[in-house]
Amino acid sequence: MLPEFNIAKEIFLKYDLKLTEKQYEAFDIYAEFMAEYNEKVNLTAITKPYDILVKHFLDSAIPLTYLEFEDGYSLLDIGTGAGFPGLPMAIMFPKLKLTLMDANGKKITFLKELTEKIRRILPIEVTIIQARAEDFARGDLRASFDIVTARAVAPLAVLSEYALPYVKVGGVFLALKGASESYEQGAEITEELGGDLADFAEYFLPVNENTVGGTAETPGETPGDLRRLFIIEKTNITPKKYPRSNAQIKKAKK
Ligand code: SAM
Repeated sequence: MLPEFNIAKEIFLKYDLKLTEKQYEAFDIYAEFMAEYNEKVNLTAITKPYDILVKHFLDSAIPLTYLEFEDGYSLLDIGTGAGFPGLPMAIMFPKLKLTLMDANGKKITFLKELTEKIRRILPIEVTIIQARAEDFARGDLRASFDIVTARAVAPLAVLSEYALPYVKVGGVFLALKGASESYEQGAEITEELGGDLADFAEYFLPVNENTVGGTAETPGETPGDLRRLFIIEKTNITPKKYPRSNAQIKKAKK
């Protein structure tokens, strides 16, 4: 279903991602199963094969190219939906220990079936949890992950409160964002939660055949869609009062 292997491989290489045939096969199984499941459960509005490759798989995998990390690092993806960005990250870097979390039971069922299929060809280690992030952060998983990620879940001011309690001191929270959000919009609460902006990256997705994609340093004339990545390091322990309840978080935002 996806564009041919050689096309996919070439696009991924622009971002320093070396796609193997096995990984491509895993992505193809992913795309097929998501399209099939999408007919009964609403998982994604992105349905064209090229768009799935670029806007879901590539966009999800790129952020890890900005990090130095070791085999066996743990990664939690909050509000993962149909698995983004966590699952493509684990397909590209199968030595990560992945945990996917979402509040929605239908998406959790999809992810369990999907990961079983992927694991038949690629030995990824994955745990799947149905929970709201802010309800689950007081248990054993608090301060236990090397990397926490989230894409398209909430504004940074809210997302930091979901994510930072789970990050170990010294670990990172990767917030994947579009062009419209700045770090300043969530800076105060992020720092209160023990986070600090360690790095910031911008890259472009080649969203159609007329765009070339690439990093902010090599945009050319028709780069494509801008994406922003905030790399937030956990420098201090998150105070015990966080995360607050969903109602309190919403109230504080007003
Ligand atoms: N991250 C995926 C992506 O980029 O395609 C899914 C994005 S979807 C717009 C938002 C997802 O976040 C939904 O699946 C929703 O159930 C989940 N979600 C929203 N708030 C959440 C929370 N507090 N805890 C866990 N999951 C949450």
